[in-house]
Amino acid sequence: MTAEELFRRYGLTRVINASGTMTSLGASRVIPEAIEAGAAIQSEFVRIDELQARASRVIARLTGAEAGFVAACSAAGMSQSVAACVTGANLARIERLPDVEGLPDEVLVQAGHLVHYGAPIEQSVTITGARVVPLGTAARVEAFHLEDRIGEKTAAALFVVSHHVVQEGQMLLADFVAICKGRGVPVIVDMASEYDLTGPIALGVDLVVYSGHKFLGGPTAGIVAGRKDLVRAAYLQNRGIGRPMKVGKEGVVGTMAALEAWERRDHAAARERELANVRHWMEALAGVPGLRLDIHPDWTGNPIDRLKITVVAKEAGLHAWELADRLASGRPSIQVRDDLIEHGCFFLDPCNLTAEEAAIVGRRIEEEVASAQRRGDGLVVSLSERRKGRVEAGLKWPD
Ligand SMILES: *Cc1c(COP(=O)(O)O)cnc(C)c1O
Repeated sequence: MTAEELFRRYGLTRVINASGTMTSLGASRVIPEAIEAGAAIQSEFVRIDELQARASRVIARLTGAEAGFVAACSAAGMSQSVAACVTGANLARIERLPDVEGLPDEVLVQAGHLVHYGAPIEQSVTITGARVVPLGTAARVEAFHLEDRIGEKTAAALFVVSHHVVQEGQMLLADFVAICKGRGVPVIVDMASEYDLTGPIALGVDLVVYSGHKFLGGPTAGIVAGRKDLVRAAYLQNRGIGRPMKVGKEGVVGTMAALEAWERRDHAAARERELANVRHWMEALAGVPGLRLDIHPDWTGNPIDRLKITVVAKEAGLHAWELADRLASGRPSIQVRDDLIEHGCFFLDPCNLTAEEAAIVGRRIEEEVASAQRRGDGLVVSLSERRKGRVEAGLKWPD
């Protein structure tokens, strides 16, 4: 069956994804190598522990870690990592979670790192029975906050590298690791969306978690890498709380294939293709009234430049969120990166787009602004209404 037939048969909406790698949109285009590997193993039996031990070698090679395994996703990988720091490789304790009585059960997290990536990160911790001890306040966390909360009950410290976190006033990873290392506290780093596969391990981080289905273009999966004893303890959680977050054989080999392809990929050529999309938008949208255009490098240093579109509502004839929603409700549905929409801006992410799709995005933005100006039907939805509407729409599923 072709993709076209699939979309027709189930009445699915075609999506042009200008928002980046979003789990809720199917994350990324899975690369052919990962699709082939996943398909090849589907009809076969395999010893999963052996397959995961081979995955460990690939993950170790790419991250510089001692060992690794493939989890269901990053959120699952974090839960299994936290659980590892609570139970160690003790099978009785593993089977007992989320009962943590008598075990270290505190996970230290900077207040500005308590993010929501579709679900709160805190829940990735609490699902194990452990609990989060927030450090400092939203935009101010100092070393003394961390030092003060390390104690007998500390199981681990969790650090998040992401555009989601508060970008100001948080501790730097190197300082965070240095303090934790000095006090014997394992550090887990959430790198779900970060291209840097080697940096955290080189800094001495104990466990690091990546998504297989984001920049790597693998199937839905997570990658856990780190110190062998902790990776083993995290893997053994598959006999406990990891069971309802199981990854299949196709996810494991698909992730291995995606990692190997990443090693060989011509990263400069991929970046050039992405930049061409951004340049196209800069030119195509330059004359659209009410839009201010800037090229915006990624917050966390990933090699991605996005187009930032600030909508001057009075000139454009509609609010930024109205434009985003009109693009999303069209056919095909165009999804823009709208996490900073309160500021009257959104971003176009070039990573998942063909040149053809990028051209459609440019045209549609131009048309929506022209249409709002012609009809005078913009500037009617407040931000507050928009937010309420999105929550309500979610609650109506499956209708
Ligand atoms: C996407 C994301 C996650 C969740 O990743 P999944 O693999 O979809 O579970 C967690 N943390 C951060 C920072 C993310 O960007």
